[in-house]
Amino acid sequence: MNEAPHLTFDLDAPGVSRGHLVVPGGADHEEFSLAVFSLNKGEGPRLLITGGNHGNELEGPLVARRLIEWLPKAQTSGRIIVLPVLNPLAVQAWSRNTPLDGLNLNRVFPGRADGSVTERIADAVSRVLLPNADIVFDLHSFGPTWDFPPAVITHPIADADLMAKTLAMAAAFKLPVTLLWQHDDTAGMFDSWAHSLGKVFVCAEFGGGTVSAEALAIYEAGVRNALVTLGLVEGKVEDVSFRNKRSSQTLETLISNELKSPAQGIFEPRCSVLDEVRPGDLIGILHSMDSVSAPSIDIRAPGPSIVLAIGSGAHVDRNEGVAILARPLHN
Ligand SMILES: [Zn+2]
Repeated sequence: MNEAPHLTFDLDAPGVSRGHLVVPGGADHEEFSLAVFSLNKGEGPRLLITGGNHGNELEGPLVARRLIEWLPKAQTSGRIIVLPVLNPLAVQAWSRNTPLDGLNLNRVFPGRADGSVTERIADAVSRVLLPNADIVFDLHSFGPTWDFPPAVITHPIADADLMAKTLAMAAAFKLPVTLLWQHDDTAGMFDSWAHSLGKVFVCAEFGGGTVSAEALAIYEAGVRNALVTLGLVEGKVEDVSFRNKRSSQTLETLISNELKSPAQGIFEPRCSVLDEVRPGDLIGILHSMDSVSAPSIDIRAPGPSIVLAIGSGAHVDRNEGVAILARPLHN
């Protein structure tokens, strides 16, 4: 029988602790460790911040490292645990999923102690870290195939009180978009599992393909705003500007708001994220590359919306998403 997952230090020790979360070995991989930082300043909110859930989204691990640098000087109350990389196997491979078992860590929560390596990571986080947090920020990014504004996201939650608390937490980042995202593939997500335990859990997302200094600055400012609002650090909430837009808005997107490619081809975006579009406005054009005489296909907005995400110029298959539209959320 393997050792149970555990921390190499005591979370209740006051002040800064640096150590590891030990993920037990199994048939497919030996025991390994995830780096963990903890800062215990006593009474106050208990927050867990995670990055590197998906291995090709590296803004989160970088912002987490920045937090570890300045939190010891800034945190005045409560407890913060930072785990910069949830899935080191996927990060090493710059891959969304774990190469070894092909699993998406964000679809296997709460994990299995006797499962494959991805399931054992989820099990360790679920059993050792999650009970020590009331609030979770999971730092993602939208990956290289989309342009997406800095956003904090939650999915619909049946418990109305938890839904309201979670949306308020998301809005506290003051990022350009707070998003309620209806999704048909939420089984096993880290946030769904934490929500089922009554915890406030939000995902930060930021797209654009490359990790830029500008993106990291916006991301870090958003997290800092949330920490100030929670009373964990002192300071003032600041406005975050993105592409000359300063206002933040709360949007909702439904499954039916994703526009799919009507055929195979190369997608040319013709609008930008946060553009307001009217019915019939051009979203993008799909080009056939088989023949220069084949007509290109216009993809147009079906209704009044805000462009939430737009596909980068890329080869797409028929029925692959090329844009996601949204509308203001009316509670
Ligand atoms: Zn992700």
